[in-house]
Amino acid sequence: MKAMEPRIGFALLLLAAIFGSPAAPGALGGEPPLLLKPDRVFDGVSDRPHEGWVVLVEGNLIARAGPAAETAAPPEARVIELRGQTLLPGLIDAHTHLFLHPYSETSWDDQVLKEPYAVRVCRAANHARKTLLAGFTTIRDLGTEGAGYGDVGMRQAIEEKIVPGPRLLVVTRAIVATGSYGPKIAPEGNVPLGAEEADLATIPRVVRDQIGRGADWVKVYADAWSPGKGGRPTFSEEELKLLVATARASGYPVAAHAMTREGLRRAAEAGVETIEHGDGGDAEVFRLMAKKGIALCPTLAAAEAMARYGGYTPGAGPEPESLKSKRAAFEAALAAGVTIVCGSDAGVFAHGDQARELELMVDYGQPPAAALRSATSAAAKALHLDARLGSVKPGLLADLIAVEGDPTKDIGALRKVRLVLKSGQIPRE
Ligand SMILES: [Zn+2]
Repeated sequence: MKAMEPRIGFALLLLAAIFGSPAAPGALGGEPPLLLKPDRVFDGVSDRPHEGWVVLVEGNLIARAGPAAETAAPPEARVIELRGQTLLPGLIDAHTHLFLHPYSETSWDDQVLKEPYAVRVCRAANHARKTLLAGFTTIRDLGTEGAGYGDVGMRQAIEEKIVPGPRLLVVTRAIVATGSYGPKIAPEGNVPLGAEEADLATIPRVVRDQIGRGADWVKVYADAWSPGKGGRPTFSEEELKLLVATARASGYPVAAHAMTREGLRRAAEAGVETIEHGDGGDAEVFRLMAKKGIALCPTLAAAEAMARYGGYTPGAGPEPESLKSKRAAFEAALAAGVTIVCGSDAGVFAHGDQARELELMVDYGQPPAAALRSATSAAAKALHLDARLGSVKPGLLADLIAVEGDPTKDIGALRKVRLVLKSGQIPRE
């Protein structure tokens, strides 16, 4: 027993570093208020940051935000000086896969088929911590890719502070048309798939079952891709409408993976709330999305990562066709007035590196402040969380980050995260 004590001490220190204080359990109300004094505040909405603002955090909420001279703080408040830094809402990534790691390390097939469940869970816990420390305080995880309902347990483990991580919205296994998804092996064989199959006859049962097991959103694949054949739509419009109607009847929104023009069109007509990837979209289908208020998660960083795995070096030589079409689709979506929501597809590339998505959004044509809105207020609205988070406003949850420099001028500032608060608690200082 004696030999264990230093380790226990170390564990407590580690917990203190992760959660703020070893006395954290039940101490929320007992913590002194925090007065955050950055150089400026990006409120998640305005184009220009507010120079000289301060933010007061009480418990898990933003209590006050405004010019330093007009924003009183109680005498017991702990002052955190954030010189040279910008304070902004905690970032949101609306498309991640905590249970995947970069395909350059292990192919998707091998992750789904060969990695033990416990290994995948341990990786997911690491990914959650890295994501939070990178300033992403909320994520929507769009499918465990063969790891069952592990995301439901991960959400609980984070809520119960067993592991540090962002606030999680989950979809469990996601839904694909029968025969459309991998891993693909010899036609005689059967292996566990990366998502759950359904058809016209089984869609209501599968949607309700996933909701019953803990899904916050329903994720459907409107199309599929296979080597040699490329992309093709899968579910009919009738099937997608049934899926959306079943989810909506219980108050659940639907996200659709779509990379073909026809997949996008059917998903949009069916009334999904977000479309993921959007590669094959044109002006007409993006106008339809804009008219119906459907947001796009462009997953630019994942496309770039796939190109890198194929030998492309960003900045060196011409862009491959896949990235040219990604750029063209993103520009067409912007021109059509589609709401862009930051959704990176992290997992395809390293968790915690999601700043890359925002860098590419700016590179592909969004002004920095608009890209930041896509990862804060606009993302919160698309995820039905705007009444609780996504901007710097009294009464909202104190999900706040501080970065060195001014990300409304240089989006690369998001790589210099110096402080993270989630619900008023500090995993990074
Ligand atoms: Zn994805």
